[in-house]
Amino acid sequence: MFKKILIANRGEIALRIQRACREMGIKAVMVYSEADRDAKYIKLAEEAVCIGPAPSALSYLSMPAIISAAEVTDAEAIHPGYGFLSENADFAERVEKSGFTFIGPTAESIRIMGDKVSAKQAMIKAGVPCVPGSEGELPEDPIEVKRIAKMVGYPVIIKAAGGGGGRGMRVVHTEAALINAVQMTKAEAGAAFGNPAVYMEKFLQNPRHIEIQIIADQHKNAVYLGERDCSMQRRHQKVIEEAPAPGILRKLIDKVGDRCVAACKKIGYRGAGTFEFLYENGEFYFIEMNTRVQVEHPVTEFITGVDIVKTQILVAAGEKLPFTQRQISIKGHAIECRINAEDAYKFTPSPGRITMWHPPGGPGVRVDSHAYTNYFVPPNYDSMIGKIIVYGDTREQALARMRTALGETVIEGINTNIPLHRELMVDAKFMAGGTNIHYLEEWLAQHKR
Ligand code: ADP
Repeated sequence: MFKKILIANRGEIALRIQRACREMGIKAVMVYSEADRDAKYIKLAEEAVCIGPAPSALSYLSMPAIISAAEVTDAEAIHPGYGFLSENADFAERVEKSGFTFIGPTAESIRIMGDKVSAKQAMIKAGVPCVPGSEGELPEDPIEVKRIAKMVGYPVIIKAAGGGGGRGMRVVHTEAALINAVQMTKAEAGAAFGNPAVYMEKFLQNPRHIEIQIIADQHKNAVYLGERDCSMQRRHQKVIEEAPAPGILRKLIDKVGDRCVAACKKIGYRGAGTFEFLYENGEFYFIEMNTRVQVEHPVTEFITGVDIVKTQILVAAGEKLPFTQRQISIKGHAIECRINAEDAYKFTPSPGRITMWHPPGGPGVRVDSHAYTNYFVPPNYDSMIGKIIVYGDTREQALARMRTALGETVIEGINTNIPLHRELMVDAKFMAGGTNIHYLEEWLAQHKR
C-alpha cells in the first residue's frame, strides 16, 4: 500500500480523500492556492504545499505545480478528486510518466470516455443502449447537418464532445434555428473545452437521469454498485441525488449494470467510474461516462456499505477488489442535498465569511464539508460548500431525516440554498418520487420570488 498520497483538489472532496487516507494509515499531502491557505483541512494534513495564486488556471489546474509538489514531498500517488484535472488524460499521463500512480483509470481510458463522441461509439460496441443521434461528430456541411436532424427528429440537442458540468449544450426545436445553434455551440466548446467538435442527440422530453456506479481493479474484476437518481437538476447541474432510484425495477437496473460491467472489462477500465443514462418509458439511454469519483458518491456508500474512495486507493495500488458482485446488496435509501453558497432562489453566488456554522447530526446523517464557523468561502471556485447526506430504512424515513437535518442546520454570514432544499423536501411530487429532469426548473418557474 502507498505510504503517502498527494490530493490534487480542494474543499470538501479534498477533505473526504484525506479522511480515507487517514483511516488507511496513509499520509496525505494537500496542495492549496493562496485563497485556501487558511482552510482547516489544510492545517489538519501531515503536509501541505502552496501551488499558486487563487485562479484555478494558476493553481489547481497547473500540472507542473502539482507534479513538483508530489516530487518535493515524496508522494507515491496522486488522487485528482472531481473537477479540475480529474478527467484530463494528459495529466494522468504526465503523472505516470513522472513516476507516480494516478488514482484513476489509464490515460487511454480517460481519452476514450472523456470524449463523449468516442465514448458513445465504445458503448454502442459494448452493447449499451445510447440516445439516438448523429453517428459521431457533426460534419461541416449545413445541408448534411439538416439531413441528420431531420432523421433524428426535432427537438434535438447539440452537445460538445468535450463538454462537462452541464455546459456546452443547446436544444433546437426547428430547422430554422439549427445551423446558428450548431455554430454557437461549436464556438463555445472551442473556447471552454479546447475542442470545437459537437454532436447531435434526440432531445428526450421527460427523461430521468439515472446513473450506475462501477468500480474495477487491475485484475479484470469489475462490479457495479447500484444506481443513483440525479434528476433534480437546474441548468443541467445536479442539486439533489438519491439511491436507489424510486420505482425502477431492480431486474432492469441489474440488466443495465451487467452491461456496464461488460463494457468496463472490454475497455480494460480500472478505478471508479459512472455510466450516466437518461431513462424514459422504461428504457435506458447512455449519455456519458465520468471517469472519476463523483460528488454524489456518498448515497451509494450508504446503501451498499462500500467506501468508494478507499476502494479507489486499493485498486490503484494494484490490489484486488475486496468484494464480488454477489456480495453487493442494496439496503435502505439515501438522499443527498448539495449545499451551495448562493441565493436560494436567484442563484447569485454568495461567497464570504461564514459567521455561524451549525451542521446537523443524529442517526443516519452525514455531512461532507470543509466549512466551519469563521471559514471564508473564496469567490474563485464552485459555489458548493458541502453536502448533507441522510440514510433511512425506507425513502420515507430518509425524507423525514433530511427534513430534520435541514431544520437543524444553521449557516450565517452568507446565503445558501438550504431554504430551497427545505421546500423541496415537503413538495408532494418530489415526495412521491420519480420526478424528471425538468421538474426542478418547472417548480422554480412556478415559485418565482
Ligand atoms: P455534462 O457532462 O455536462 O454533465 P451530460 O451529457 O451528462 O453533460 O448531460 C447533462 C444533463 O443534460 C443530463 O442529465 C440531462 O439533464 C441533460 N441532457 C443531456 N442530453 C440530453 C438529451 N439527449 N435529452 C434531454 N436532456 C439531455
